[in-house]
Amino acid sequence: MPGTKELKGTLSAALREGILSHAVLIEGEKGTGRRELALWLAKAILCSEENRPCGNCSVCRKIENGNHPDVEIFGGNGGARSFHIESIREIKNSLWLAPNESEQKVYILLDIENMTQEAQNALLKSLEEPPAHARFILTCDNRKSLLDTIISRSTVYTLEPPTREECAFALREKFPELSESEAELFSIAYGGNFGAASAGFSEGMGEIVLLASKVPELLKKGDSYSLAAELSSKCKTRAELSEFLERLLNITGRCGIDRAAGKKAPVRVSPIEAVKTSEIIERGKLSVLQNCSIELIESWLCMELSRIFGGNL
Ligand SMILES: [Zn+2]
Repeated sequence: MPGTKELKGTLSAALREGILSHAVLIEGEKGTGRRELALWLAKAILCSEENRPCGNCSVCRKIENGNHPDVEIFGGNGGARSFHIESIREIKNSLWLAPNESEQKVYILLDIENMTQEAQNALLKSLEEPPAHARFILTCDNRKSLLDTIISRSTVYTLEPPTREECAFALREKFPELSESEAELFSIAYGGNFGAASAGFSEGMGEIVLLASKVPELLKKGDSYSLAAELSSKCKTRAELSEFLERLLNITGRCGIDRAAGKKAPVRVSPIEAVKTSEIIERGKLSVLQNCSIELIESWLCMELSRIFGGNL
């Protein structure tokens, strides 16, 4: 995962010096590699090889496979308020018991922004005076959604999203079938979010991303007919149409900004075209939510976008 490299260096150093806090909070938006980094840190804490984590010893492998008895993972698979106090009670019940195989125990709590207020308060007590053998690794999307007291009892490390170039590079490593320009386009279409971009590619969103990138060019040629035809064949569901709108928003927004800054952009969009497109997309997204017919939204969209990019209707 791009972007995690720097933090791994910082965390390794803290661990080596013996100054790693007993509660580490990893903050970063979805898709930046929070879970991967949390598991990596658990391995680094428990692995006994010289270069920690080695990734090969039985400790590292057990953690990777989710069956190390001293590493427990909670959360990470639900929406808001899905992380309940029961999980914290479970932690409290085992917290003071000695570790099974290792010298320490690691509790990984994922997406703690989803904790109920009750759960956050209960967690606080465990964070305040944990036994010496216990370590907590917490992840969240944004520390602002947490109690101040949780933040003050942890050391926060923020995972910065990778740059567009880093994201494109990592995409090509993962999907060698992507050309350099396609990887760049994907990276722009998903706002440099590697997790989201690679999920999009794996889930077959490639054609929708390509279509979104062709919109300005097609319409500048006056070819709204091709756009309408491709839209109706590639975006048959609400989810596909939403995906198209999100990718178009990112592509035109980013390329418009680049153009304004005098930088080279893969899609030719002027700043004013980008602003107008974003207005249309916001209206389009509302229509998708409001259950309007997909065909109607698509033909309206083609008409509005044609106006922006100067094509003939
Ligand atoms: Zn190891």
